[in-house]
Amino acid sequence: MRTKIVAGNWKMNCDLAEMEDLLGEIKNQLDSVSNDVHLMVAPSFTNLYPAFQSLRETNIHVAAQNMHQEQNGAFTGEVSVEMLKGVGVKNVILGHSERRSIFHETNALLAEKVNTALAKKMNIIFCVGEELKSRKEAKHIEVVKEQLEKGLFHIKAENFKNVVIAYEPVWAIGTGETATPEQAQEMHAEIRKMIADQYNSAIADEVSILYGGSVKPANAKEIFSKKDVDGGLIGGASLKADDFLAIANSF
Ligand code: PEP
Repeated sequence: MRTKIVAGNWKMNCDLAEMEDLLGEIKNQLDSVSNDVHLMVAPSFTNLYPAFQSLRETNIHVAAQNMHQEQNGAFTGEVSVEMLKGVGVKNVILGHSERRSIFHETNALLAEKVNTALAKKMNIIFCVGEELKSRKEAKHIEVVKEQLEKGLFHIKAENFKNVVIAYEPVWAIGTGETATPEQAQEMHAEIRKMIADQYNSAIADEVSILYGGSVKPANAKEIFSKKDVDGGLIGGASLKADDFLAIANSF
């Protein structure tokens, strides 16, 4: 049975007071969420420790939105895996399209980050997804395959237990444009097949694959009903407790 996951990527939103309000609202309604849905939130670096403290009595997990590939050193402004672990964080999002496009993170760099995270037993949400141009040219599967082959498929089979994949078509992130449930299912099935071909079908069957891109309460149920979609990575809608929890209740 694959784990169902709903993860909120809060990006560069919420100062400490705003986050505490949001977490308070989420915690107040937590009873409404089924125990088999694994909830996760990804605040900014400065809010990771307070989030961890606030959530330690709950089953909500905390993820960082990024980390540096080196262990330590002269990398002004960066945060290492040990720093994340030191404040209780056990999950990290790697390869989000905003990191790839705005901060020029390449597949090769992401492969290094993956290695550093896994070496320290950090769980990874590894993001992939094509831009609109590739979708229009029907190259979307090729693009995602390359992202996986160059950024993730060098890891050992045994490390896949620490990996979740998020398919996030770039054209659907923050745009209000959602992939149709059929488009999401097509790519998720392709990703599972790529994993089966590279590793084996047992690993492919076990890995949770999340969809991300303008998921909201109104469309989550249909997307999550697809057989290879195991949940969502949610941006904008995760900043409202009611919407985030409604999405978590959409399986
Ligand atoms: C995201 O940033 O991962 C995301 C999916 O954003 P949104 O839900 O706002 O499209």
